[in-house]
Amino acid sequence: MQWETVIGLEIHVQLATKSKIFSGSSTAFGAEPNTQASAVDLALPGTLPVPNEQAFRYAILFGLAIDAEINKRSVFERKNYFYPDLPKGYQTTQLDKPIVGPGHVEVDLPDGSSKTVRIHHAHLEEDAGKSLHEDFHGMSGIDLNRAGTPLIEIVTEPDMRSSEEAVAFAKKLHSIVTSLGICDGDMSQGSMRFDVNISVRPVGQEEYGTRTETKNLNSFRFMERAIKLEVERQIDVIEDGGRIVQETRLYDGDKDLSRSMRSKEEANDYRYFPCPDLLPVVFEDDYIEALKEQMPELPDARKARFVAQYSLSDYDASILSADAATAQYFETVAEHAGDAKLSANWVMGELSGRLNSEDILIQNCPVSAKALGQLVLRVKDGTISSSGAKKVFGILWQGEQNDVDQIIDQEGLKQVSDTGALEAMVDEVLAGMPDQIAQYKAADEKKRKKLMGGFMGPLMKASKGQGNPKLFNEILQRKLNG
Ligand code: ADP
Ligand code: MG
Repeated sequence: MQWETVIGLEIHVQLATKSKIFSGSSTAFGAEPNTQASAVDLALPGTLPVPNEQAFRYAILFGLAIDAEINKRSVFERKNYFYPDLPKGYQTTQLDKPIVGPGHVEVDLPDGSSKTVRIHHAHLEEDAGKSLHEDFHGMSGIDLNRAGTPLIEIVTEPDMRSSEEAVAFAKKLHSIVTSLGICDGDMSQGSMRFDVNISVRPVGQEEYGTRTETKNLNSFRFMERAIKLEVERQIDVIEDGGRIVQETRLYDGDKDLSRSMRSKEEANDYRYFPCPDLLPVVFEDDYIEALKEQMPELPDARKARFVAQYSLSDYDASILSADAATAQYFETVAEHAGDAKLSANWVMGELSGRLNSEDILIQNCPVSAKALGQLVLRVKDGTISSSGAKKVFGILWQGEQNDVDQIIDQEGLKQVSDTGALEAMVDEVLAGMPDQIAQYKAADEKKRKKLMGGFMGPLMKASKGQGNPKLFNEILQRKLNG
């Protein structure tokens, strides 16, 4: 039997506002527990929520970016449930009247094709606090700093058909929200969290199978693994004569295992009702039009611009334009280096490699874009070799020095490009290698290319690694072939 996978996502995106959605407390990450939870966040008696306009602006910008209908009148509801990290006893969210209506996102797939993923809606809501289970020896700690942080929850239609499509969509969404500047995109800090709904059905069957939901995936890699595992599990269950129960599952990335958390039968009845403390929120057309004017460049437009402006390949342009911070970094490097292609190679090569291996975001890169641009310029104008440049890059990476020319001087990395000096070195080295010269002269074209390398080694050594290899090569060719 051939199976088809069906996937729909629900994504929580933390909005990058300075303060919370209904109070003035800071949303900054990493503060001492419970130092950023005000009386409003705790719903102490007598307090009232005050909506943060910035959260609404961000939600509307998102809606505009995915070509969605903006609901000019949206309504907040209370979703009632008990949990220690929710002292209010309810989450303020939207249900029937979300701020963002149906829209769509275009996704480029790894095989070069593209597809449209429909967005069912996106609504505004507040985040809950966090339960901390480590360090408390049999008890749990509660940190309410996150309580009241604004989120948009984005719900897709079940339009994806494989883990690859789901991950490509997730990356595109990440790219859109970071380009809009409405989310910092830091998934390791929970700024974007994915719930993945998965079902399988026999190929050709129209009706969807029963789905499970795997909650709270916070990296693209975990998402891909969790989907693959769940699809295999569902197919095994069905092929063994069982049936899928609708349930919520948890995926443990460290163990690469998933387990059932609760079944639909035990699902909560949240008793939603319109929040009596908050009036319906109404926006005028003018307000939305003004936001349209402020829309920053979106990933698709930026990619097209990179191809046109910098003559980059489609592939390079899509990598460099996907994330707003990377795009900006690249453009600054290219501006200082005056060579887009070489800049692209450095950003996608040496720099990305180092950022990945040390798990650092480009926003926190110890090498400034300006310094890297200077470095690329010095490679381009022949001042240093590419191996010398790697050495300079390593020093820049340590973060103590940022003057590229000074580092080149101090490390003695300047290439010798004085042809007179280089020619003297070639003469001296060749004088000591008569046998090799004879061998070279007797060889055919193909073999000569190989033998050439035998001269370069001693030459680089004679120049203490500082001879310009391109010039050495030219002089050698002339002397040996002439
Ligand atoms: P509920 O009302 O139970 O929350 P929804 O219809 O709102 O369910 O769907 C929630 C999410 O699950 C959406 O992202 C949707 O695309 C996805 N989904 C719904 N049905 C399926 C299915 N059979 N297989 C995979 N995903 C599904
Ligand atoms: Mg739903």
